[in-house]
Amino acid sequence: MTPRRPTRQVTVGDDRVGKVRIGGGVGGTTPAPVSVQSMTAGYTHEVDTCVAEINKLAAAGADIVRVAVPGKNDTQALKDILPQVRVPIVADVHFHFGRALESVEAGVHKIRLNPGNINDRKQVEDVIAACKDKNIPIRIGVNEGSIVERRDKQKRLKELGGVFSDNKHGHFLAIMITKLEEYLDIFYDNDFYDITISAKSPDPSLVIAAYTEVSKRFDHPLHLGVTHAGPKETGTIRSVVPLGHLLASGIGDTIRISYANDPVYEVEDGLELLYVLGLRERVGVDLIGCPTCGRIQVDLFTLIQDVRAKLSELVLPIKVAVMGCIVNGPGEAEGADVAIFAGNKRGIIYVQGQKVANVPEEEILERLLHECRQFEEKVQRGEAKLGEKVVEIAPPDPIGELGSGFSKIAAGEVDQPTGPTQLTVGKSE
Ligand code: SF4
Repeated sequence: MTPRRPTRQVTVGDDRVGKVRIGGGVGGTTPAPVSVQSMTAGYTHEVDTCVAEINKLAAAGADIVRVAVPGKNDTQALKDILPQVRVPIVADVHFHFGRALESVEAGVHKIRLNPGNINDRKQVEDVIAACKDKNIPIRIGVNEGSIVERRDKQKRLKELGGVFSDNKHGHFLAIMITKLEEYLDIFYDNDFYDITISAKSPDPSLVIAAYTEVSKRFDHPLHLGVTHAGPKETGTIRSVVPLGHLLASGIGDTIRISYANDPVYEVEDGLELLYVLGLRERVGVDLIGCPTCGRIQVDLFTLIQDVRAKLSELVLPIKVAVMGCIVNGPGEAEGADVAIFAGNKRGIIYVQGQKVANVPEEEILERLLHECRQFEEKVQRGEAKLGEKVVEIAPPDPIGELGSGFSKIAAGEVDQPTGPTQLTVGKSE
């Protein structure tokens, strides 16, 4: 992991909804954790459903939520929406600068402008003045699809064309940097630096190239995203590959994953990406599980899904391992706070290396949940520490513990796991 790139810092929100800081490190600011954003999928002017969607996203862990304001009825609705939510709201403005002014007037916490469709200098200056007056930041979002080549910037474009001549995305990068420089000049001329920048595209390699170039040239915080990533099934890879690459390279201060699905998935996957990269402190259980194979002797897929659903109530980042057999079970269990590895229709449960139960398959879920809840309470009372390894786990005697006959296989006595008749000790505790 490359250390995070220092940027200016912007603050989104107020005392009522909370303040989310984005970026940092320049001017004595402390870099803020990378934040997760999402956007409502419904109509903003349908106040009740919009409020419900915003609150659902906030409950899922969104730090900031964006809403589209294409019409006057949408900006009017903001006045009713804002008092009912507890998360900073960004107004997404395209084509009509008046929607930005109305959103600022309504009390929104940030504006997103698209240089591709709001580029009249006077109009941009009006928005800047309104935001400056209310201390509201602006995101400049130069999406690939909305960039328009400007005739009056041909010279700079030509220069940058030379800079990027070896890059397969060179033409786009040259236009994008030209466009950004031109747009930012308006902001700087008006002494406005409360800016974040995004440079999204559906092409992951272009996303990496664009943000890398922007990060070299501007010290504003970057809002990462892959636009139009498609359904979650394919959009996950399309999104997390470039975002993960950039974040691991120290680039990126706030992220939005966009799916053609319920936006709650965007928040869940965005948070998970930050957790696995160590860029955010995990809230809730860190669940690992084996993919199963021809050695499996319990219904592990169902077990893992049930464990995931039931453990969403826990808040501490307890590491839980759900493993199919003794091949990798003991190793994973050793690194986990609570673990189960299964055998012949049974499961052995460990808490920080201590064996606490050997139960039949139908009791595994409840016993595992019970142990996880108890462990969380112990940590909260200060009687246990997360991640502490108490003892080394030796693989159990398969005949005695799990009845799956692995020791007989090792001894060459049988060539596959055998049934419960092998069970000599494995009684339910
Ligand atoms: S832990 Fe066992 S069941 Fe799971 S994938 Fe590994 S070998 Fe297969």
